[in-house]
Amino acid sequence: MTFQIDADFDTGNIEVRAIAGDRADLAIRVDSNGPWFQWFHFRVSGAKGRTLTLRILNAAASAYAEGWAGYRACVSTDRERWVRTETEYKAGVLEIRHRATADDIWFAYFAPYNLARHQALLDRMAAAGAKVDAIGKSVEGRAISRITVGQGPLQVWLLGRQHSGETMASWWMEGALTRLLDPADAVAARLLETATVHLVPLVNIDGATKGNLRGNAAGIDLNRQWHGPDPERAPEVAAVLCAMDRTGVDLMLDVHGDETIPHVFIDGCDNDPAATPAQKTGVAAFKAALLAANPAFQTKIGYDVTYGGEAAPGMATRAVPRRYGAVGMTLEMPFKDSLEMPDPVEGWSASASARMGADCLGAILAVLDR
Ligand code: ZN
Repeated sequence: MTFQIDADFDTGNIEVRAIAGDRADLAIRVDSNGPWFQWFHFRVSGAKGRTLTLRILNAAASAYAEGWAGYRACVSTDRERWVRTETEYKAGVLEIRHRATADDIWFAYFAPYNLARHQALLDRMAAAGAKVDAIGKSVEGRAISRITVGQGPLQVWLLGRQHSGETMASWWMEGALTRLLDPADAVAARLLETATVHLVPLVNIDGATKGNLRGNAAGIDLNRQWHGPDPERAPEVAAVLCAMDRTGVDLMLDVHGDETIPHVFIDGCDNDPAATPAQKTGVAAFKAALLAANPAFQTKIGYDVTYGGEAAPGMATRAVPRRYGAVGMTLEMPFKDSLEMPDPVEGWSASASARMGADCLGAILAVLDR
C-alpha cells in the first residue's frame, strides 16, 4: 500500500499522474476557462515516515515559470502553521522533497485561505460591530462581501484577491481588520474618524474556491476589467465599481502577491501619465510612511512604469484613480520571501502578510492627513 494524494476540497488544486514508491508525479490543473496555472494545494495521506519526492511535471508551462527559481513549497500538518520545505526547479520540473511526520500532510503554493475562514472573518467582524453586506454576486452566484468600518467623511477602499491564488492578500486583510477593530489602537481610532473604510477581502471568490491562480469562473483576469467590466463575465468588478460609485473613492489599495519578485512593493497611480500632482504626492506619502512602519517594505525594486502595457487602463490602480480622482495603489507581496526581512523557516508568511496589513493603516492615514 502506497500513499494517496487528493485535492477535491475548497481551494484544492492538483492532478495525480502516477504514484510509485515514495514518489508522486503531479500536474497543476489549469484555471477554469482560463490559461493560467501556478496555485497548488493538496493533501498527502498515509505517508508518515516516508521521505516524499513530489514532482510537478508541468511547472515550466505555468503562468510565471520564472517564479519557481528560489521558490520553496509550503507544508503543514495542521493547516494552521505553514513552513517551507526543500524544493528544486530543474529541467522544467518542480521537485518538492519532504519527510512526512504525520499521516495527513498538506502542501500548497502559499498558506491557503479557504471560504470557511473567509466566512468566519465576516462573522467575527459583524459581531465586533462592523457592517457586513453583499454588494453583488460572482459568475457562479457567490456573494461578493464588503466589510465597512468607520464614520469619517473620506472614502477608503481596500481590495483583496482579485487574483484568487494570491492568498497573502487575505492574511493582509485579517491583519488590517484586527487592528482597525482594536479599540486600544490610536492609529485605527483616528483612521475611523477620518474615513469610512470599505474592505472587499475576497473579490474573486469563485476562483478561490476552484483553486484558480488568477482568473474568475469565466476565465477572466479581473484586474484588467476596471475601465468597463462586462457584467456577465466580470460581475465581481462591476459590483465593486457600482458600490464605489455610491460612495466615491479618496484612496484605494488593491492587495496582491507577486510570483517572481522577492520584495514587498507598491505599483502606484503615480506611474500613470494622467496622474495629478495630488495623486503623485499621495503615493509618495504612503510609501514614506510604510517605509518607516515596516522594515519588509521597500521602494527600490518593483514594476517599471510600463507595467500592464496596453491592458494597464483596465487595472484597478489605473482605472479607479482616473474615475474618482483617488490615490490608487497596488501592494505586492512575495510568494517566495522578502529579501529585506527573510524568514528561513516560513518564508514570506501569513503572519508577515497580516503584519503588513496592520502597518499599512498608518500609511493610509498619512495620505488622508495631508
Ligand atoms: Zn495579482
